[in-house]
Amino acid sequence: MEILRKPEIILKPEKTFWTNYHMHSHYCDGVGELEAYVIRAIEKGMLAIGFSSHAPKPCGMFWHMKKELLCEYIKEMSFLKNKYHDDIKIYSGLEVDYIPNVIGPSHFRDLNLDIIIGSVHYAGMFENGENCIIEYTEEKFVEGLELIFNNNIIELVRTYYDNIISMVNNDPPDLIGHFDIMKKFNYGNKFFNEKDRWYQNIVAEVIKVIAKKKCVVEINTRGYYKGITEDFYPSRWILEKCLEYNIPITISSDAHQVQEIDSGFESAASLLIEIGYKHVYIFIEGKWCKADLKAKGLVFK
Ligand SMILES: [Zn+2]
Ligand SMILES: [Zn+2]
Repeated sequence: MEILRKPEIILKPEKTFWTNYHMHSHYCDGVGELEAYVIRAIEKGMLAIGFSSHAPKPCGMFWHMKKELLCEYIKEMSFLKNKYHDDIKIYSGLEVDYIPNVIGPSHFRDLNLDIIIGSVHYAGMFENGENCIIEYTEEKFVEGLELIFNNNIIELVRTYYDNIISMVNNDPPDLIGHFDIMKKFNYGNKFFNEKDRWYQNIVAEVIKVIAKKKCVVEINTRGYYKGITEDFYPSRWILEKCLEYNIPITISSDAHQVQEIDSGFESAASLLIEIGYKHVYIFIEGKWCKADLKAKGLVFK
């Protein structure tokens, strides 16, 4: 008698993908043409990407886009959107500095970009009127700490996070860039300990404001894959708090070259899963949507 064998069920591995809305290019301090990032993203099977060159700023530094390039940048993003329409979703954007009463996301809203990342890179002002950059070099960080904050690290941290609170309340971006980048030079707890009560209280205050305004926060892998920080922006315990407060998280690499388009993503996903995240957010067709979070990528139905 013929034995009927059940057909073997072959489970196809689930198709996963990444997205990344934080990418620089030659228009600011990154390397490479926009199209090179698009091609790399398509090769990697990414579902969507967004460009976020550093927006022009009055008295800008070398990493800011020159104002006269803005028009060309916008045209090029639009051209690429159409050219690769069938292969990948491309979103236009800028990473805009937030300095109270100087610059913020609202200054660029009339450009009708898809995603504006709001980032705080400055805290306090020197006597000569120069805003103090806190994530460029350690020397500059220390100079600001000494000359502006009289070596009081709590004051510097407070000012940094007050700027984030002010941005979220008064000029909310579509995505908050690298939440705690002021820790960049704090390896080995050189300047403060994140476990200190005063630090945790300040962060808890910021998280409550973000949760109320329902802003999206990125887990930014740049410090991690560049070997600058031991963990991501923000730190694990802050991500735990974000989950508690239902703050939407998206994964970004803050790429400054094509090879960094998804750097550190699997590590970031593992950490988020370990913390208890089931979803992250992706920007699709003009809005942030939930995507299932897997160790090797995202699933979106
Ligand atoms: Zn930044
Ligand atoms: Zn950036």
